[in-house]
Amino acid sequence: MITIASPEHAQHRAPHEFLDGRLIPPYESPERAEIILAAVERAGLGPIVRPRAFGDAPLHAVHAPDFLGYLEHAYGRWVAAGGDPAAVLPSTLAVRWMDRRCLHPLVAPGYYSFDLSAPIVAGTYRAARASADIALTGAALLLEGEPLAFALCRPPGHNAGSDMYGGYCYLNNAAIAAEQLVRSGAARVAILDIDFHHGNGTQQIFYGRDDVLFVSIHADPAREYPYFGGYADERGTGAGTGFNLNLPLEAGVDDARYLAVLDQALAAIQAFGPRFLVLSAGFDTFGGDPIGDFALAAAAYPAIGRRIAALGLPTLVVQEGGYAVAALGENAASLLRGMAAEA
Ligand SMILES: [Zn+2]
Repeated sequence: MITIASPEHAQHRAPHEFLDGRLIPPYESPERAEIILAAVERAGLGPIVRPRAFGDAPLHAVHAPDFLGYLEHAYGRWVAAGGDPAAVLPSTLAVRWMDRRCLHPLVAPGYYSFDLSAPIVAGTYRAARASADIALTGAALLLEGEPLAFALCRPPGHNAGSDMYGGYCYLNNAAIAAEQLVRSGAARVAILDIDFHHGNGTQQIFYGRDDVLFVSIHADPAREYPYFGGYADERGTGAGTGFNLNLPLEAGVDDARYLAVLDQALAAIQAFGPRFLVLSAGFDTFGGDPIGDFALAAAAYPAIGRRIAALGLPTLVVQEGGYAVAALGENAASLLRGMAAEA
């Protein structure tokens, strides 16, 4: 397998996030990517390469032009208009009945973001671009015949929709890679999202599509983020009806329960018959995660990896969440080790 990583992620370092009425240090930190990279190096899982540069076209294939323009210029315009230079964070949010687009530099963040967990700093767009290039490089490697690639993306992507950001995510790396695979001739691509949180952005991007199957195993949104979507009755729309599968789970899920639900997800993917698999891999399902309530042990990750790899599909693993920093590197390396052993 090949890992793709870039030091550019460190350009994005949020000073804080807003949670339960408190401004707190961000869970999503640059250390996460460094720890995963070190663990992958230690595990000797194959070459680690830098991303290639893909330009704007693959981003436009997934994200709206006004949204991309906003992300690129948000910080500079915010500071010039008198916003706190520490980070862009909205104070007024667009909601139902009140969603006219207002692009005042201090207000546009409330139009494009859906929460207060994704501050924008001077280097955020640069880091997000590099993160998308990492995923795109992984997609290119699959197209060149590699069976398994690990895109060590940071910032993560699965909460970002076509024209909205939040949940630590700005550009949807997994969606951008999946769309590139479709446009390169793959008739069908499956995305499996095993992050603790629902991949609301990925779901939104492909909700009307029958050529990209989205399957997500996650905490029931009735109790966990992102709350306002990710329920089992969200099955897709129009041509995409039946091509979106949400498997929300209760608190305290252990290895056996998780693996049984994973088998259900894998059966759906197998029935779909994709040419490629994109795996949105979050490790906040781990029992020690500070913002998750599942109870997976470290031993679950190689088992998850082996089962996914048993599908026999060329697979791009895209790094998403995981905030139990002390265990994060080993959990990621374990998943990859399980996949590489089976591939
Ligand atoms: Zn997550």
